[in-house]
Amino acid sequence: MARADANVRLSGGGALIYNSASPPRFSFMPTTVELTINLAAIRHNLAQVRRLCPDSRIMAMIKADGYGHGLLATARAVAAADGLAVARLEEALQLRHAGIRQRVLLLGTWLDQHDLEVCCRQAFDVVIHDEASAQLVLARNDWPGSLRIWLKLDSGMHRLGLPPDSFQRVREQLRRHPQVSELVEMMHFSCADEPASDETGRQLRCFNAVHDPALPASVANSAALIRLPECRTGWVRPGIMLYGDNPLPGTDVDLRPAMRFTARVLAVREIGPGEAVGYGVSWRAGRASRIATVGVGYGDGYPRHAVSGTPVRIGGGRAPLAGRVSMDSITVDVTDIPPVAVGDMAELWGEQQPVAEVADYAGTISYELLTGVNARVPRRVIDRS
Ligand SMILES: *Cc1c(COP(=O)(O)O)cnc(C)c1O
Repeated sequence: MARADANVRLSGGGALIYNSASPPRFSFMPTTVELTINLAAIRHNLAQVRRLCPDSRIMAMIKADGYGHGLLATARAVAAADGLAVARLEEALQLRHAGIRQRVLLLGTWLDQHDLEVCCRQAFDVVIHDEASAQLVLARNDWPGSLRIWLKLDSGMHRLGLPPDSFQRVREQLRRHPQVSELVEMMHFSCADEPASDETGRQLRCFNAVHDPALPASVANSAALIRLPECRTGWVRPGIMLYGDNPLPGTDVDLRPAMRFTARVLAVREIGPGEAVGYGVSWRAGRASRIATVGVGYGDGYPRHAVSGTPVRIGGGRAPLAGRVSMDSITVDVTDIPPVAVGDMAELWGEQQPVAEVADYAGTISYELLTGVNARVPRRVIDRS
């Protein structure tokens, strides 16, 4: 689990470069492909959450290696949050191991008695999401510490959570347990980013029917937090918006992308009308065209399913992908943008090229692209506002 940070080095330029798959690189070495994480952007986005719900406590979702931005770097960038949430015990332990004393919430995970003891000792908040995990807690009165429990309701998503008919009974049992020092009631939305869906209203009514107003409630992910003021309750759980992607395009929240994925142009060539580009000859030039080959591919985490037409930023221009994505390269039709030269930098996603747009073209969501950049891609962590 110490994966991402095993090879952290401070380069001459002061930037942190790490890459677990190959020896550490230094910033003066030219890289074909690079991932830049801007901690200042994450801090800015956290401040936007604070502005939206100044009365809520913020549980910053940093699961999946901080949505691909690096677990520890992200944890430090959101130090002003009221807690950090991860999916796995190993991730939570990695935070403590790095000296992070903040409140850490372990989301729905498989816990046995030994794991729960570890949670007590490390003061991790845990999610109790089913009868078995509740009984595990209730079976003993001699846990090596107190327990802060987030009791999860299945309000309709049917993934994790107690059904409404047993939720209140389990809550009362946990409430009477002498070592349960805090209880939070939580649920998760399935369609918060779809304003037209009535599922969100249905889930909220289900929650409100069993919720004890004396306890803090936690219902909002990023989309609910942005769109539904009634979801800005005791605790909010923003994820994707901390990384600068707004799940509700068109809503007025000032978010800044924290990840920039770049690669250099390896070759530029002219081809004639009717000539094909790439595997499977899936793209043919309709006219005399200039094709730039960029050194990034699905072996780096650029989505192979990105179709011809997917935008790539090169220089000041925006040019369409032409032909299939290869393992180590992509081909881009740069006929209509200012001249491109070998060595020029292309932005696959970042401040100029929204990751959500690339995800659309690839038939997926920004979350998958952000978490999917491979370990061989050198990383640079910067702090620039
Ligand atoms: C990941 C997650 C969130 C955050 O969702 P975003 O859409 O990224 O804001 C909130 N709650 C739970 C339980 C999650 O697993």
